[in-house]
Amino acid sequence: MLYETGDTIKAVYFPVNAVISLVVSLATGEMTEAAMVGKDGAVGMASALDGKVALSRAIVQLGGDAMVCDPTAFRGAALQSEKLISKIMRHEQTLFAQAQQSTACMAHHEVDARLCRWLLRARDLAGSDHLPFTQEFLAEMLGVRRTSVTAVARTLQEAGMIKYTRGKIEILDVEGLHECSCECHETTNEQYRQLLGPSS
Ligand SMILES: [Zn+2]
Repeated sequence: MLYETGDTIKAVYFPVNAVISLVVSLATGEMTEAAMVGKDGAVGMASALDGKVALSRAIVQLGGDAMVCDPTAFRGAALQSEKLISKIMRHEQTLFAQAQQSTACMAHHEVDARLCRWLLRARDLAGSDHLPFTQEFLAEMLGVRRTSVTAVARTLQEAGMIKYTRGKIEILDVEGLHECSCECHETTNEQYRQLLGPSS
């Protein structure tokens, strides 16, 4: 865990190939992912500018490299550059766009389409077809029962789209996942392109 909700931000993270989930946790212990951040974003950037308080929990979903910046130094650099401030604001808009898309997705899209969306986003950010996720973790991120994830993973495996072995997913058919994913994957990518330019 990089931050808990309400924590003071002590570092701004710029993932290189690590993937971070911003999650909302409830008093009853459940948590749900609001946004996924990787090489196309940063964690803690806007909070470092002002309040320095984390608004959500940030957990490392996939370990890897990230560049780290001291929040005070980051704020100093931002205050001297209108261009950097503009980039930070646009980045925050992408996070908001992702969170609002996730809200609509959870309310209206089926779990199989949502899992495909989630795997595609994780694959894009990790730059790998091998994703070490347990079904428990996927169920937590998607806010569904583990049995639902098990059933969907089996269907995707039978369709030749993924290979699932204990705690590991290998993506075999990216096109197939795109076809089964809801529109939210492409919508989020388009919003990133509009706000931040080409993501890769
Ligand atoms: Zn969706």
